[in-house]
Amino acid sequence: MFQDRDNMRKAGVGTERKERASHLSREIRKKRSKLMERLIVCASILAAAALIIFGIVRAFIFIGGLMDEDFQFSYTACEGWSECDSISAVDEDYAIGIQYPLINDKTDGTVKKHAKAMLKSFKKEIKRYEHGNGEDRAVYTASYSIVKNSDIYVSLLYTVHRYNPARELDDIRYIAKIYDISTGKEVSARKIFNVRYPALVSGYVTSILKADARYAHETGTKLFIENTKPDIDNFSNIGFSEDTLTVYFSAGDIFPSDIGELKVDVPLSRVHESMLLNITDYSAPVYDPDKPMIALTFDDGPLKATTSKILDTLESVGGRATFFIIGNRVNAQKEMIIRGDSLGCEYGNHSWSHTDLSVLSEAEMLEQLKKTDDALYSVIGKKCALTRAPYAAISDAMIKAADTPFIGWSVDTRDWETRNAASIKEKILGNVSDGDFIVMHDIYTATAAAMEEIIPQLAAQGFQLVTVSELMEARGIPLTPGKVYRSAPR
Ligand code: ZN
Repeated sequence: MFQDRDNMRKAGVGTERKERASHLSREIRKKRSKLMERLIVCASILAAAALIIFGIVRAFIFIGGLMDEDFQFSYTACEGWSECDSISAVDEDYAIGIQYPLINDKTDGTVKKHAKAMLKSFKKEIKRYEHGNGEDRAVYTASYSIVKNSDIYVSLLYTVHRYNPARELDDIRYIAKIYDISTGKEVSARKIFNVRYPALVSGYVTSILKADARYAHETGTKLFIENTKPDIDNFSNIGFSEDTLTVYFSAGDIFPSDIGELKVDVPLSRVHESMLLNITDYSAPVYDPDKPMIALTFDDGPLKATTSKILDTLESVGGRATFFIIGNRVNAQKEMIIRGDSLGCEYGNHSWSHTDLSVLSEAEMLEQLKKTDDALYSVIGKKCALTRAPYAAISDAMIKAADTPFIGWSVDTRDWETRNAASIKEKILGNVSDGDFIVMHDIYTATAAAMEEIIPQLAAQGFQLVTVSELMEARGIPLTPGKVYRSAPR
């Protein structure tokens, strides 16, 4: 039978056979395509169902994650930028959450892109190590803080808490970014600084850490030496605030991980000569750090009749001073405050009503300081960076609660006692040396008169008259809240 059919085919019926054959294959193709369509539809439904189920499962895991308090975000946002957003990823192996600020239309895309890149790199990092499951999965959370440096630049810092039980890892990583918010682009350390930067910043950071009792014993290691040598990559995790560059080191970067993360504040005066971009509108110091300098300090003012004379005299030699003001005088002496500020003088806190802070309750003490800060802020938009306690009375409670350093003195004119210009002159000119803090009161006629003679003489002797903060900065002494400083010798 097979043979017959074969023979018939061979004999052929020409075109008719071909047509029939092609008709048949069309039929088959039609059937096949219908089958394919059905298959595709079925597959799509199955895929969609799978996605939905997967999504629900993921959502449950995610919500479960949130309920487990995987994500404890905290952030500080500067004025006008309280808005933020977050991205997260939750899996059996990990729960990752990153919170980032919303800045402006130009910059938000870049910030989000970087947040996504961080998320991706965290996933990758976690996958490289042992997988966790559910209970012991890795949890990474990134919170941020942001500082508006100028109309153009912001410094953004992510503090990443890495927790990975499979690796017994629990530490903090810093990821710092600087953005040009007028273009929305990130600005790297290579764009901000020139080639002199690595040597300048490395020199300062290593000297600070070697002088710090907490770290000194760890500064001889290969890890420290390698990762603090003058290489820009060692000092590119940075942020700015006013006249400070902060260098961030994550746990394990320069010291063993158990020492943890740390930040080193570098005065911009130390690196400004290598700056190509002025991120904070910083003005370079108007003093020469290699020449002698002293800090004249005046308490209990301002008082127009006498303070204005002292400011005149300072201005005549291009000098500055630090005024420890009484808060309740500020409102009536706005003009003096503004003028002093414009001359580069500095204001410190001398309490609201010149009361002995050491005998007050903590709340009362803080109120005395805060009211003065608020009054000063309302006039020049700055708070007091320093405090001088009335009667030099500092209690342990004050030291604990302080958010500024306390400033004493190394030369005491006793002008409040003598009220005598000749005596003040003798106390200063016979005693003063490089790095001294000199205490006076800008509310006495004798003091203002003495300054008219003494200030030009000190300038002629080669002393630069600077503020307390400038003197500390020039000597590379960081000002720590609660600490007492009485001079800054070389
Ligand atoms: Zn006083």
